[in-house]
Amino acid sequence: MQNTKLKVLKFGGTSMANASAIKKVCDIVKSDVANKFIVVSAPGKREKADIKVTDLLYEAFEQEKKTGECSKALDKVQKRFEDIIKELNLNLDLSSDFEAIKLEIKNQPSNCYIASRGEYLSAKVFASAIGYEFVDASEIIRFSTCGRFLDLTTKELARRRLKDTKGAVIGGFYGANELGTIWTFSRGGSDVTGSIIAGAMGVCVYENWTDVDGFMAADPRIVDKPDIIEMMTYKELRELSYMGASVLHSDSIFPLRKKDIPIHIRNTFNPKAVGTLIVPTKKFVAGDFKRKARTVTGIAGKKFFIAIFIEKSMMNDEIGFARRVLSCLEKHEISLEQMPAGIDTLTILFDGTFVSDEKLKLLLEDINLECSPDNLIVEKDLALIAVVGHGMSRNKGTAARVCSSLCKADVNIRLLDQGSSELNIIVGIELADFEKAIKALHKEFHKN
Ligand code: ADP
Ligand code: ASP
Ligand code: MG
Repeated sequence: MQNTKLKVLKFGGTSMANASAIKKVCDIVKSDVANKFIVVSAPGKREKADIKVTDLLYEAFEQEKKTGECSKALDKVQKRFEDIIKELNLNLDLSSDFEAIKLEIKNQPSNCYIASRGEYLSAKVFASAIGYEFVDASEIIRFSTCGRFLDLTTKELARRRLKDTKGAVIGGFYGANELGTIWTFSRGGSDVTGSIIAGAMGVCVYENWTDVDGFMAADPRIVDKPDIIEMMTYKELRELSYMGASVLHSDSIFPLRKKDIPIHIRNTFNPKAVGTLIVPTKKFVAGDFKRKARTVTGIAGKKFFIAIFIEKSMMNDEIGFARRVLSCLEKHEISLEQMPAGIDTLTILFDGTFVSDEKLKLLLEDINLECSPDNLIVEKDLALIAVVGHGMSRNKGTAARVCSSLCKADVNIRLLDQGSSELNIIVGIELADFEKAIKALHKEFHKN
């Protein structure tokens, strides 16, 4: 199915945060008859110190678990929606929805169910504001009973449900299994819902509307006015967003690849900005968009990695050593990020965000038991930075520039890795150097 004239538009949390933002979204949607499929996030932050509705819902879940009662957090969510409804003057009453949520929390005591209600209600509110039909994502986004996303079933359900619509609003981030049990994607997952609907309906473009003028060469919260990347490829996006450029979920490309659908990142609060077009390959031709001939497209980084340095004499001769180390990670459900090795040394590096001290202790015990190393050293508080761009392929000197710019900024490199595809260079540094390093790399590759 190819709807080459229709579009999917996804609006993020800040675009849904209050009535004035929602009015802007209404103007954008009404500006083109092609804007038929709308995906929305839950209301996000109205100002820096605000709390996202999704975070309030997770808080409600924790309250319910601890005390059997969740009104304290849920009332705040209700008030946020009621304020929006009142200011937009909508003929909509969500009180029975909130009653149902309070009851359902007892039947579906899962954080997926409660977290999903932000997008569910946001879609109801926006459907009422724009006069489109509300489509509950649980009707079309299908998961298996154990929470695995079911691509083909979802495509079929989405096409069947949306083929004759005059305009539909769908909540992002969640879906359900056949029995109606709700599952969510990982945080930021409304981007993925937008991609899934775009892929299923075969639209000409997936517009992802957010609160910045485009995908920037570095995190704008760290670098002052970074360059906006006018055009980048799916692969560059995946590398950068996986490594922390949170503007778009890193899984967003998968549902679009078969049909080569571009993603256009745009700013709800500045619709005239050109934005960023994310395209399948370097050679993809897209209207007026130009790909700048740059060595490095962007820089992104993630904090809180843990490294375990393993040393053992004659490690190189011991067949199966790395496999045994990795099986320990697998046993504790920890995903490996990097594994630099020497003759008698091996380092495993993984995201420490969800690894408790207790889990780490058990992992070290298992490595000791399985591998009998001479020495095990744990280092917490590491950060990884990815320097990404197709332009560095077959181009001499990029690694040298990475190293010398970090050296000039007085940043010590603890780890350095370049994939054979030459699409990225990863550097591991100490947490304290994180912002300094991002600024130095952006200056080296984008401000010279
Ligand atoms: P939404 O709620 O619209 O989905 P997000 O908060 O998920 O928006 O993503 C937009 C935010 O991503 C921006 O406000 C910005 O602070 C942050 N961000 C991080 N890295 C980048 C980057 N490289 N380019 C643009 N924005 C970035
Ligand atoms: N509301 C969800 C979150 O905050 C999903 C999203 O906004 O994409 O992660
Ligand atoms: Mg987002």
